[in-house]
Amino acid sequence: MRKKQFKAESKKLLDMMIHSIYTHKEIFLRELISNASDAVDKLYFRSLTDDSIGLNRGDFCIRLTVDAEHRLLTVSDNGIGMTAQELENNLGTIAKSGSLDFKNNNEQNEEIDVIGQFGVGFYSAFMVADHVTVISRAFGEENANRWESDGADGYTIEACEKANVGTDIILHIKADTEEETYAEFLDSYRLSSLVKKYSDYIRYPIKMLFTTSKKVEGTEDEYEDVTEDRTLNSMIPLWKKNKSEVTAEEYNHFYKEKFFDYEDPLKVIHSKTEGQATYSSLLFVPAHAPFDYYSKDFEKGLALYSKGVLITEKCADLLPDYFSFVKGLVDSEDLSLNISRETLQHDYQLRLIAKTVEKKIKSELSRMLSNDRETYEKFFEAFGTQLKFGVYSNYGRDKDAVADLLLFKSSFEEKYVTVEEYISRMPEDQKAIYYAAGETVDKINMLPQADAVKAKGYELLYFTDYVDEFAIQMLGAQDGKAFVNICAEDADFGTEEEKESVKAKNEENKDLLDFMCESLGDAVTAVRFTENLGEHPVCLVSEGGLSSEMERVLRSMPGAADVKASLVLEINANHPIAQKLVDLFANDRDMLDKYAKLLNAQARLIGGMTVENPAQLSALICELMI
Ligand code: ADP
Repeated sequence: MRKKQFKAESKKLLDMMIHSIYTHKEIFLRELISNASDAVDKLYFRSLTDDSIGLNRGDFCIRLTVDAEHRLLTVSDNGIGMTAQELENNLGTIAKSGSLDFKNNNEQNEEIDVIGQFGVGFYSAFMVADHVTVISRAFGEENANRWESDGADGYTIEACEKANVGTDIILHIKADTEEETYAEFLDSYRLSSLVKKYSDYIRYPIKMLFTTSKKVEGTEDEYEDVTEDRTLNSMIPLWKKNKSEVTAEEYNHFYKEKFFDYEDPLKVIHSKTEGQATYSSLLFVPAHAPFDYYSKDFEKGLALYSKGVLITEKCADLLPDYFSFVKGLVDSEDLSLNISRETLQHDYQLRLIAKTVEKKIKSELSRMLSNDRETYEKFFEAFGTQLKFGVYSNYGRDKDAVADLLLFKSSFEEKYVTVEEYISRMPEDQKAIYYAAGETVDKINMLPQADAVKAKGYELLYFTDYVDEFAIQMLGAQDGKAFVNICAEDADFGTEEEKESVKAKNEENKDLLDFMCESLGDAVTAVRFTENLGEHPVCLVSEGGLSSEMERVLRSMPGAADVKASLVLEINANHPIAQKLVDLFANDRDMLDKYAKLLNAQARLIGGMTVENPAQLSALICELMI
């Protein structure tokens, strides 16, 4: 019989399959079952209007048959079948569209992309089989045809007999090699688990004969082989059911099984969307961050199904980074497993879906924030840092999408507060949103400036997360109120009167202050008096946009060792130390020089910074002691 050659494009794909080093060869089964399901669909729909077909809904099925001895795996269906011409057209040619072009360069990454993301249809059989036979009888025909190929050098088609309408795809599984044990595809248990993994929700039963060894009744140790026909798939996806039909336990069980979590999710978001993009989605907000969440190993994404068939376990494009903690899946009616569709179309549909998924997550989180604050705070403890990153990253492009989901720890009862809540309860004379950054709430509370703000009756936000300050700088003013670091020099929360009196004191003592500034070299840019410190003698404030906390964060990053916040040493004009300094300036400038260094070291310690020269500090203290 004359061998026919594959069309050029088909051959390309075929070569890729035969020599595939793709690690998930198992997906061939998904592809064949998906084709079988489509073929059954076609005949089933026809049967709705054509009684001559003589099959009821329950008669349609897909069957796997294993003949391990001959290394044969058969995928059969009683679907629409193919005529000789269709065998020729469908299996000899893949090029229904030009979509193969995008993977013309045969790099490994490209290969994985194509196979993993979109499926490659029938030819994927050649990843695991060295010979493939297709016996098919089309609906309406008496005769059947046999298509055969061992890949590279073409295929043959000849007439044959087949009792029923439908298709058998018979794979001769490749011999095992040192690297690959193809025999796994002849193992009933393995096949059964592959069906569960990829094709559980195919709408028709996928059956297989299972032979197990069972004890013979009434005997001690006699066993016999029992063969039973099993249906391997559950057929109805949870997400395709109505919400009212699914219990909380079922959702939780599904979540934990599928996403390997030991804890129930904090929130389940189950929805069906129709319109431009038609899809069901089942999304979960976990109760805790996975151990690798804030590392580069973490991969975001939702599982993507097309009509119940798994396309990819993690489609990253479906989630924006700031919602990367969401787990779940999307099942679309509009996507196809089919490589012969233009990829651009996939992208367009995916983008539409991603947009609505994002909106849905946002609105559910907002609702949780206003209706179930306790759960929301738990959520925020786990994933708040990621939301703040969302504000900060991409140069703030997405800040509006996340801004109103942010919480900050506040000095009012030391609870969480939203910016909106903060602003709504600001006293009338308060001009800005005050915050301080530090390692812990306790340490921030020890700042001299914190006392001053609280004494005014103002609310203070505690920024204990390293990304906080960067995020709010990106956020900018809210409702006309700027965020002000209480440790920054322009954080004036005094009255006009107070400011006037401090100004006078500073002018009066200008020489003294300049002298101290000089003593401190480049540690500070200025020294001055203030009246905002309550009982505290000194503090350091930062000038310009860069705070000392930000300096600490930035310095821990590569290439930023020379970042420096510019600091001003402030001295409490109402503290006895102020008078002492005036006296020393008049009588003992040597001692004043030492006092300046001591006070600066104290201020650094109070502000949660390290002392730049601990040995010098120690020596100075001893000098005063003896
Ligand atoms: P597709 O992605 O279009 O399914 P395939 O290479 O898997 O690409 O299959 C090509 C075509 O062959 C299908 O579109 C279908 O028309 C036909 N086909 C494949 N398997 C079967 C089957 N089991 N029964 C009937 N037709 C089939």
